[in-house]
Amino acid sequence: MKLKSLIINGFKSFADKTQIDFQDGMTAIVGPNGSGKSNVIEAIRWVLGEQSAKNLRGEKMPDVIFAGTDTRAPLNRAEVEIIFDNKDHYLPLDEDEIAIARRIYRNGDSEFLLNGKQVRLKDITGLMLDTGLGRESFSIISQGRVESIFNSKPEERRVIIEEVAGVLKYKKEKQKAQQE
Ligand code: ATP
Ligand code: MG
Repeated sequence: MKLKSLIINGFKSFADKTQIDFQDGMTAIVGPNGSGKSNVIEAIRWVLGEQSAKNLRGEKMPDVIFAGTDTRAPLNRAEVEIIFDNKDHYLPLDEDEIAIARRIYRNGDSEFLLNGKQVRLKDITGLMLDTGLGRESFSIISQGRVESIFNSKPEERRVIIEEVAGVLKYKKEKQKAQQE
């Protein structure tokens, strides 16, 4: 599976529809402070199902919609679409290309689309589970997170290692079974 493109429209500082094609060999996005690098990462987090506005540096989810500038009116809708090359069928779907889109309106209404069809959040998180790309995974490490991992207690660090190793899921299931 490969990240192919990201299309951002009305999300945070991206008032205009912006498409980023991740060509082979691309390893970094650089730019001045405040130019929107973190917003690109947050767009990826958001389209894959992020449910916490705080994790996206906002108070409520509609805060991700372009809020306007001195010269530009605010928008009423934000949309992000992510496209994966799935020729290796790493994601358990028949399609060779997977497009996941998320939309939100000012009134808080939102929707997810999987290859153009409306789906639930659960369908997206289920699809991403165990791919290393899900909401709680470590493929995206935000600013400050590395430091917090270094400063964490050994027991907390163990949880992180167990999660990366894929053990945590089984431990949680065992715990649940023992309680029943
Ligand atoms: P740094 O190098 O400092 O980490 P960066 O390139 O990561 O900067 P971002 O944090 O992605 O920059 O972008 C911040 C900019 O995005 C700010 O100018 C902020 O005003 C703008 N921004 C954030 N949310 C919105 C929004 N909802 N509407 C309009 N602009 C927004
Ligand atoms: Mg940043």
